[in-house]
Amino acid sequence: MPDIIPGGARPTILVVEDEVPLLTLLRYNLEKQGFRVEEAADGQEALLRIAEARPDLVLLDWMLPQLSGLEVCRQIRRRPATRDLPIIMVTARTEQQDTVRALDTGADDYISKPFAMDGLLARIRALLRRSGSLSTRGTLAFRDLSMDQDAHRVTRNGRPLHLGPTEYRLLEFLMQHPGRVFSREQLLDAVWGRDIHVEPRTVDVHIRRLRKAINGPGDEDVIRTVRSAGYALDVEAG
Ligand code: CA
Repeated sequence: MPDIIPGGARPTILVVEDEVPLLTLLRYNLEKQGFRVEEAADGQEALLRIAEARPDLVLLDWMLPQLSGLEVCRQIRRRPATRDLPIIMVTARTEQQDTVRALDTGADDYISKPFAMDGLLARIRALLRRSGSLSTRGTLAFRDLSMDQDAHRVTRNGRPLHLGPTEYRLLEFLMQHPGRVFSREQLLDAVWGRDIHVEPRTVDVHIRRLRKAINGPGDEDVIRTVRSAGYALDVEAG
């Protein structure tokens, strides 16, 4: 089922690929999904296009003329302006070793040719959601909590709440999966991203802040601490 991006935000994907038929196929499918597409046919051009077009994600072929995908990846990570730019490495290689090398160099994800278009699109969307370029917009609700994702407004029982950016993303993620228990590591991955090195106990600090922000006097605590497991948006039974 096509998952068209809702109005307004259209993330830009830079496709770096020297095989023209594959490039054409990728452009067609990405545009059909509502993405804007930029192209580069080699590594040097990729670095130029990144600086000019400021893409939200790079789909990077490993085997490229002049500058390899690995080297492009390294350079993207070395520059402060693009350190956090999401990268999916595409390659014909299937060796486990190469997967590790791609991820070590700083790629966020990895897909081998030939790949299923649906699988690639799902990975692109997952990565864009994690980086905040693609949000599933609308209104989330849990009991008397309500989050308007377009306006970035959170209310409890109609009363506006003031959340810091991290607390907002944390609550958004929990509201997208009510009742599910997440470990600190899972929350770090989902809210902070895999590239950032944060201590798991940082999650506890932000959960504490989030509780303070959303639980007013007399309010029920909607965040459940699951001993030695993690946290869930839930209320204690009984
Ligand atoms: Ca190639």
